[in-house]
Amino acid sequence: MADYDYDLFVIGAGSGGVRASRVAAAHGAKVAVAEEYRVGGTCVIRGCVPKKLLVYGAHFAEDLADARRFGWNVPDCAFDWPTLRDNVLAEVSRIEGIYSQTLGNHGVEIVRERAAVSGPNEVTLASGRTVTAGVILIAVGATPMRPTFPGSEHGVTSNEVFLLDSLPKRVVIAGGGYIANEFAGIFHELGAAVTLVNRSDTILRGYDEQIRDRLLQISIAKGIQFRFNLTFEKVERQEDGSLLVHLTGCDPIPADLLLFATGRKPLTEGLGLETAGVVLDGNGAIKVDADNRSSVDSIYAVGDVTNRIQLTPVAIREGQAFADTVFGNKPHRVDYDCVPSAVFSHPPMAGVGLTEAQGKEKYGSVKVYTSDFRAMKNVLAGRNERALYKMVVHPETDVVLGIHMIGPESAEILQAAAVAVKAGLTKQAFDDTVALHPSMAEELVLLR
Ligand code: NDP
Repeated sequence: MADYDYDLFVIGAGSGGVRASRVAAAHGAKVAVAEEYRVGGTCVIRGCVPKKLLVYGAHFAEDLADARRFGWNVPDCAFDWPTLRDNVLAEVSRIEGIYSQTLGNHGVEIVRERAAVSGPNEVTLASGRTVTAGVILIAVGATPMRPTFPGSEHGVTSNEVFLLDSLPKRVVIAGGGYIANEFAGIFHELGAAVTLVNRSDTILRGYDEQIRDRLLQISIAKGIQFRFNLTFEKVERQEDGSLLVHLTGCDPIPADLLLFATGRKPLTEGLGLETAGVVLDGNGAIKVDADNRSSVDSIYAVGDVTNRIQLTPVAIREGQAFADTVFGNKPHRVDYDCVPSAVFSHPPMAGVGLTEAQGKEKYGSVKVYTSDFRAMKNVLAGRNERALYKMVVHPETDVVLGIHMIGPESAEILQAAAVAVKAGLTKQAFDDTVALHPSMAEELVLLR
C-alpha cells in the first residue's frame, strides 16, 4: 500500500468510522478520517447520547411527583428548558472532544471537510484536494427522512430537535417508531400536549405486540394522543408563529412544533459511489458482504449507511471487525443474532431475540411465559402503571428464544438477560437461579 497517501481513508467520524479508524491505526495503518460536521456522528451529537440525557431530565417530572408519597416535601418546581438543553449540549461537546482526542492519540489524522469518492482508491475533498488510499471506508451513516407535502418545511427532525429555543406547548409527532415514542415521552413529561400521528394502525412495528400495546395503553393513560392511519395533507404557519397541521379526514391540529420521526435513509447521495462502481440497494444503502466489503474491492462500508441494523453498538462492531480483518490479520465477522434493543420511552421497553409472532412463524408454536406486575415503587407512589415481562421459549428444547419487557429500568435489566439468551440458556436455567429480592428483575426467574 506504499504508493498511496494513506493505507485507510475513512469518510465519516461517527460510531463505526471512529472505531474503524482507531483500531486500524493501532494495527499500524496510516489512517485519515474525514468529517464534514462534528466528530462523534449521530449517536453522540444528535442521537442516543443527548436523547438519553433528555429522557433522564424529563423523567424527573414523575420522580418529583412520586417523591411526595415517599415523604419528601417537594415545593412547586418549575422546569427550565434552556438549562437542560445547554447542559446536554455541553456534555455532547465534552464527549466530542474525547472522541477527537482518542483519534489523535492513535495517530489518526482528522480532515474536517466533506469528502467524496472519486475512484476506487481516490477521495476528493470539498477544498478540491484529492488524496489516495489503499482502502476507503464509507461510514457516513443515515439522515432523517422528511416527508414532502405543502408546508412540510415547517417541521423539524431529530437533527434540529435538540436545539429548540423554547419548549413547545403543543407537539405533533409524525411516525410511530423509536424516535416518535421516545420524544412523545420526553415532551409529554416536560409538560407539552403531544399528539403522535402514524400512517399505519400501530406503533413500533416489529416489536412484540403485547409489549408495544402496553406502551400504547400507558402512554394514552398519561395523556399522549395517538392518531392512526392518517396522512399529512399540509401544514400552515399561523400569524402568531404557531402551526396548523392538516391530516386527511380529521380536524386540523394546532401545534407549536411538528417533529418528523419517519425513519432514516442512508447518506449516500452525492458521495460519488456510483461513479466508482459501488452498488447501492433500492434504499440507497451500500451493499456489502459479510466482511463489510462493497462491490468494489478497495471500498468497504459499516454502520447505518449499509442499512443492516441501525444501532450504534452494531456499527461499532462492524468497524472493529473491518479493521481487525483488513489491517490486523485477525479476521472475524459480526454476529447479528440476538442483538438487544430498547426504546427509551416512559417507561422504557426492551427486547432481545424472537418475539412471540416470530417464534411461531419459525417453530410453529412456542411456549410463552409472562409476568404482569406493578413495580413496588409504583405501588407506593400510587402510580397505576404495570410492567410486563415476556419470555418466548422453544416448544421442545426449552431454550429461551426471546425476552421482551416494558417497565422501569427495563433496558438495564434486559442487557443482562440478553447474555443468557445469546448463550442459548434454557428456561430451566432461569428457574434454577435464585431470585434477588426485592427487585423487578427477579420476575425473570419466577416466570410460571
Ligand atoms: P423507525 O423505523 O423506528 O420508525 C419509522 C416510523 O415512521 C414508523 O412508525 C413508520 O410507520 C413511519 N414511516 C416510515 N416511513 C414513512 C413515511 N414515508 N411517511 C410517514 N410515515 C412513515 O424510525 P425512527 O425515525 O423512529 O428511527 C430511525 C432508526 O434509528 C430506528 O429504526 C432505529 O434503528 C434507530 N434508533 C434507535 C433508537 C434506540 O435504539 N433506542 C432510538 C432512535 C432511533 P409504520 O412502520 O407503522 O408503517
